[in-house]
Amino acid sequence: MTTIGHLINGEMVTDGSRSQDVFNPATGQAEKQVLLASKQTVEQAIASAQAAFPAWRNTPPIKRARVMFRFKELLEEHADHICKLIGQEHGKISHDAAGELQRGIENVEFACGAPQLLKGEHSRNVGPGIDSWSEFQPLGVVAGITPFNFPAMVPMWMFPLAIVCGNTFILKPSERDPSSTLYIAQLLKQAGLPDGVLNVVNGDKEAVDTLLTDPRIKAVSFVGSTPIAEYIYATANANGKRCQALGGAKNHAIVMPDADMDNAVNQLLGAAFGSSGERCMALSVAVAVGDEAGDALVTKMQNAMQGLSVGAYDNASNDFGPVITCQHKDKVNGYINSAEQQGASIVVDGRNPKVDGYDNGYFVGATLIDGVTAEMDSYKAEIFGPVLQVVRVKTMQEAMQLIDDHEYGNGTCIFTRDGEAARYFSDNIQVGMVGINVPLPVPVAYHSFGGWKRSLFGDLHAYGPDGVRFYTKRKTITQRWPSSGVREGVSFAFPS
Ligand code: NAD
Repeated sequence: MTTIGHLINGEMVTDGSRSQDVFNPATGQAEKQVLLASKQTVEQAIASAQAAFPAWRNTPPIKRARVMFRFKELLEEHADHICKLIGQEHGKISHDAAGELQRGIENVEFACGAPQLLKGEHSRNVGPGIDSWSEFQPLGVVAGITPFNFPAMVPMWMFPLAIVCGNTFILKPSERDPSSTLYIAQLLKQAGLPDGVLNVVNGDKEAVDTLLTDPRIKAVSFVGSTPIAEYIYATANANGKRCQALGGAKNHAIVMPDADMDNAVNQLLGAAFGSSGERCMALSVAVAVGDEAGDALVTKMQNAMQGLSVGAYDNASNDFGPVITCQHKDKVNGYINSAEQQGASIVVDGRNPKVDGYDNGYFVGATLIDGVTAEMDSYKAEIFGPVLQVVRVKTMQEAMQLIDDHEYGNGTCIFTRDGEAARYFSDNIQVGMVGINVPLPVPVAYHSFGGWKRSLFGDLHAYGPDGVRFYTKRKTITQRWPSSGVREGVSFAFPS
């Protein structure tokens, strides 16, 4: 059985004290073992990153960017292998993995602009013969802790930008599907990154807690579930670190009576069931405004869902794959059961689908639930499975209130032909990322990604312009070279 270790100071390291099975969720078989780093192993990685920092900090940004240009080429060259590794451990279908990888590569492309991004700000003659400028300096050693659902893309939200900004990096990927992340890190070494600038430690809470408490780590980027995000943010802050911690979601789509219903149904199918609903931007609630819209939506969805196929990652005709673990499958089915028990109607039932040849896989079929209300457990929780719940309301205001009252505020979308309604919605809704007839409004790499409310703890969003600010600290320098013309005597008044 393959053993997955750590990448420390450019070398593969095996710390054998503890390990965990890595499953193929389509077969239910443990196919690999991932080593779980001890405190000492993480400290070794931090020491390596700390040692690499001074030289990397002083490497010209254009040279750092050149490593990223080469890295992008290698990612494209090895795309098929990366997608295979994602499929084997996460379960997502090859076309979906390719989409994830492409969005990750776009973050590398943004990072290639480092020389431009780090130019700083300059003002000449802020006083007589005095110039002032702000520069953006790296923080030092920074860490990233990432979730299972985007093992390629989410790490690439973090380390390419942090590294081109002059930091060195420790990445702690999800222990459930670590292989593609580790492989990508090895490609960056191949692209010419000096040893120690990027280190990958696989592990669990022990590794994370070491990163959160070690004084050499200056900042932490986290993406994962809300309870852990909250813990990461509080612990990192208590230990004097800068932190951005992105959490869970419950993304609603408002379907207005004037929406192009066929288009809305097509968009909802992909956004609710793509990647088995295991996306933080998955649309998991459709809020139908008016009974006519509700009836049309449910009927059309029900018909369209007959054609969906769930199966293994390597058959590109499948629409989506299994969920990540057996426990998660039980949890998703449990929410469907609870919605039924609490009075909702299961219109399309995906519990225990038959997938030929994969009897032990963690499959849940696409599920449609109508008559869901805000009091139901299935509505309150992030299910993170291929389940679309329909809530029926009378007005758009009622729909917006429902969204604003939910604890999460990651993404949302409105389907309508009414520009005025769409503008009112985007202007007022208490959610960080908004789509207008766009179901998955994931910002492109040159904007920044982040939710509101309990979907993000911290101030700056991930990647893009906010990412540059997160991974640098501003220093402002005011300079005068005294000459006979401007030499001044003593003054005790505040300079103005
Ligand atoms: P998770 O919170 O279980 O794990 C995320 C990371 O935290 C992993 O690296 C894990 O090892 C670590 N971790 C888990 N428990 C820990 C603990 N007790 N102490 C310290 N570290 C711990 O999340 P997941 O199940 O891997 O990912 C799914 C979640 O991530 C969903 O809630 C999803 O919405 C969220 N997510 C959010 C975004 C976003 O941008 N907001 C993006 C992707 C995923």
